[in-house]
Amino acid sequence: MDVQTRSVPVPTRAPSGDTNVYLLGAEPAILVDPATQTPELDRLVRDHRVEHILVTHTHPDHVGAVDSYAAQTDATVWARYGRTDRFRDATGREPDRTFTPGTTIRLGDTRVRVLTAPGHAPDHVVFEAGRSGPILCGDCAVREGSVVVGAPEGDMRAYVTTLRRLWAIDPPALYPGHGPEIDAPRETLERLLSHRAKREQRVHVAVTDGAETLDEILDRAYEKDLSGVRDLARGTVAAHLEKLDVEGRVAWDGRRAAPPDGD
Ligand SMILES: [Zn+2]
Repeated sequence: MDVQTRSVPVPTRAPSGDTNVYLLGAEPAILVDPATQTPELDRLVRDHRVEHILVTHTHPDHVGAVDSYAAQTDATVWARYGRTDRFRDATGREPDRTFTPGTTIRLGDTRVRVLTAPGHAPDHVVFEAGRSGPILCGDCAVREGSVVVGAPEGDMRAYVTTLRRLWAIDPPALYPGHGPEIDAPRETLERLLSHRAKREQRVHVAVTDGAETLDEILDRAYEKDLSGVRDLARGTVAAHLEKLDVEGRVAWDGRRAAPPDGD
């Protein structure tokens, strides 16, 4: 299946400052994550028969031009079942249809399959382009650095499960929402998993050593300068604490952390 990528400038805090918009297939085609309208995307959309519009998740840097390209193409606009209110709030458009994990959308003689991928955002899905094909992974992975998984929007337990699931599928490539194509998916997924495990370990040690508030834990769990991203890091630490709390490894009430009873 043809996968075309257009990187478009959007107000995003991702280091690249751009979001990748994807076009799958040709006649017909599926447009994924139309983040904003550009002349280049206008041309791409005009040159292909776009029949469906999908988004990996409804963060503002992925959905800005859903409404305008839907109007231009008359394509079917899809949203995740159970998340249509969120979709409407983010895009300003009522979806035509809903998908659930496992839904397949026919595209010529092949198909695109929807897989659930929560963690970065609660409504996050990924799209498998053709049978055992590459996966459009949205903000589940990036080739360099890491993605934000911050409370309350992010769920660290779900995110780690999503990374493991993608590792098990072992697609030939991952096409991320930001930055270059990931041509060695398992390597990248292992790097991201180990990054999370290391951070979790540091958060756990900080709490065991007596740090209680988010800021105290933050100062011990990160050695780098956090100016400008402290709010994001605070959300990440909260997401780690929520995970550790569910696993019974710390007690976290949303304000203060402590070692679990009896520790
Ligand atoms: Zn996002």
